[in-house]
Amino acid sequence: MSGVNRVPLIAGNWKMHTTYEEALRLAEAYRERLTTLDGVECALIPPFPWIVPIAERLQGSPLALGAQNCATIDVGALTGEVSARMLAPFCRYVIVGHSERRHKLGESDEMVAAKLQAALRNGLDPILCVGELLGERDQGMAEQVVERQLRSALDTLEAAQLRRLVIAYEPVWAIGTGRPATPADAQAMAAHIRRWIGERFGSSLAETVRIQYGGSVNAGNAAGFLQLPDIDGALVGGASLDVQQFCEIVRLARELGRATSSTLATDS
Ligand code: PEP
Repeated sequence: MSGVNRVPLIAGNWKMHTTYEEALRLAEAYRERLTTLDGVECALIPPFPWIVPIAERLQGSPLALGAQNCATIDVGALTGEVSARMLAPFCRYVIVGHSERRHKLGESDEMVAAKLQAALRNGLDPILCVGELLGERDQGMAEQVVERQLRSALDTLEAAQLRRLVIAYEPVWAIGTGRPATPADAQAMAAHIRRWIGERFGSSLAETVRIQYGGSVNAGNAAGFLQLPDIDGALVGGASLDVQQFCEIVRLARELGRATSSTLATDS
């Protein structure tokens, strides 16, 4: 393991769930329960219309806000789109390339790359989702698919921009299915992603990039992922709508992060 201290990021993707009242209740519950994060970062990622009222309620809280998507351009005739420029005053993070957008809404690798650039151009930290379909894994193509998604998204990036990137490895077959990847498979892919970045941008830079695991993470299985050497947090869908579960995942990230630092300190 390297000596680089990557702060784990636990991000809750609420997807297209919650009424206005439910969203405010959730945000207020998290604000009350997650008052100190202590070595972990935590982001709430609600639907677009709830971002501004939640931003107001999170003032003074260590919780960050994120958006689930952004447009490829900053301003213009794109009915229904929301640009990174509009989100920037309220959010720190934005998800780009979530598999539901790639596979259900036809988002291409090129669109994802343009959204990544839009996020960076406007000062947002992108959470780039990559991951293979079940058939692709069964055919032994998982690494190839993830490499294609990385190549297309990161090709034009400069080193300084890479430092702001979070990558979420989310095998599509694990999302919302209750069937997560095994920790061994998640670690193998995260290590592969880090190696791939290292070959293009240098290994010391690759060591700074945070790689999350996402796909049916809950309070019961999170520890298995959060203790892996190349996994730096989780992108959590369903369980982020459950206050007990999500707070427990944040607690585990904090506890396991601390265990890792003290192991490193003892080792050196
Ligand atoms: C997600 O939405 O990115 C996700 C991982 O969902 P879930 O945790 O519900 O599988």
